[in-house]
Amino acid sequence: MKLMTEVVNFLEAGPIKLFINGTWKESNDGATFKSYNPANGRELAEVYEAKESDIDDAVQAASLAFEDGSEWSNLSAIDRANLMFKLADLMERDFEIIAQLETLDNGKPINDVRAADLPNAIENIRYFAGWVTKATGQTIPYSNDFFNYTRHEPVGVVGQIIPWNFPFMMAAWKIAPALATGCTIVLKPAEQTPLSALYMAKLIEESGFPKGVVNIVNGFGKTAGDALVKHPLVNKIAFTGSTQVGKSIMKEAANTMKRVTLELGGKSPNIILPDADLDKAIPGVFFGAVANQGEVCNAGSRVFIPDEIYDEVIEKLVQYAKSLKVGDGLDEQIEMGPLVSERQQEVVTSYVSKGIEEGAKLLVGGEKTDEGYFVSPAVFTDVTDEMTIAKEEIFGPVVVPLRYKTIDEVVKRANASPYGLAAGIWTENLKQAHTLANKLKAGTVWVNTYNITNPAAPFGGFKESGFGREMGSYALENYTEVKNVLISLE
Ligand code: ADP
Ligand code: MG
Repeated sequence: MKLMTEVVNFLEAGPIKLFINGTWKESNDGATFKSYNPANGRELAEVYEAKESDIDDAVQAASLAFEDGSEWSNLSAIDRANLMFKLADLMERDFEIIAQLETLDNGKPINDVRAADLPNAIENIRYFAGWVTKATGQTIPYSNDFFNYTRHEPVGVVGQIIPWNFPFMMAAWKIAPALATGCTIVLKPAEQTPLSALYMAKLIEESGFPKGVVNIVNGFGKTAGDALVKHPLVNKIAFTGSTQVGKSIMKEAANTMKRVTLELGGKSPNIILPDADLDKAIPGVFFGAVANQGEVCNAGSRVFIPDEIYDEVIEKLVQYAKSLKVGDGLDEQIEMGPLVSERQQEVVTSYVSKGIEEGAKLLVGGEKTDEGYFVSPAVFTDVTDEMTIAKEEIFGPVVVPLRYKTIDEVVKRANASPYGLAAGIWTENLKQAHTLANKLKAGTVWVNTYNITNPAAPFGGFKESGFGREMGSYALENYTEVKNVLISLE
């Protein structure tokens, strides 16, 4: 596919700057880092690297933009909503530019970006723009001597730290509810995928948001991310990433009593019941595990299969794995791209080796390429619940099937994980679907589908998959403080 001129110009304009206080700035110490195309390992672009002092600049800007009397705080609800609608319109205008940047930087198939990431991101901005004029507090009955009402006030300056698996969509999920509630933002994208969020910053600038409302600062977790978590002027941290980093952020945030919401890892069960429509269930569980190269926190990476149909299901899973078209995501025929980085390629292939070492049998895939960071889709068999590949998040295209005999047994085993992000059920029996949906400990339960998210519906985890919900009305709570006002009428 030919790259658009706008894309080439964006990549080649020299180190891309930090977006702080409505202007484009070099980092204070001049540091930069590089972004690579995972399909071939070649350098894509150079970007400025934010460290503590740049983060401080961004937080100060966000703090000023939030203050009483600022341009942002003085906007009417409808004006704030209109800025968000404008941003969504610009994302739509530049749809193809963003799609190419995303595929170049992350590796994922451009068809996926066009069909899923980008429409979802745009819908999220519009969905939350709608809330600006609709989110209300309460008037509370007390007695004739008092008037009692609540205000849902923005929590203030929010630090948002996002991962590399859906760079643009994650940025949209994060900024949309924060803008809708009137917060100001310092967003730190993942160091592996800095580009599409920087392009978003261009569109934010063009939309006309007051300066300092959204600041986008690329940098590394241990420096830029950590400085954001520690900064006393940041009132809240919204984080999506690994459970390990999520725990350290939660501890660190306690020092300044920041509000925290965390969307972390998973090892989600995807359960085929004996009566499932296998023509839907088998591709359903396959793509539930390997969609987006398996780099999805809610990947259905534990596939539970009834004993009596186990062999049939496995055989078809292997066929799917063999026929999946893997290659450069810019090719429109491609169904699976490379993993995001060489490190991720290493992580995934070492999980595959560990599976074999611990006695599981690899039926297909799990091989890495020399050029690019590809790993071919893998299907195991003879896996037991105690094996590492059945317990830990792999974050790669690896299907881990597990045999079961009874429904009670599968519920127990499905829930026996420290994670609780999502779960899938495949059945034609409605009663069974409802009963199981009630019993599974997961923030999302999909029945006869998988991986579908909707801006109007909440998404987030139980247990060590984190807390707080993104999207839906629930996300507004993450970004508001409730104030009770009680007035004596006597
Ligand atoms: P992964 O290991 O898949 O890259 P991480 O949880 O490490 O997942 O990264 C998710 C995001 O968290 C990235 O933006 C990364 O820079 C950031 N991050 C990593 N470590 C820290 C940290 N100690 N403090 C704040 N942010 C961090
Ligand atoms: Mg990259």
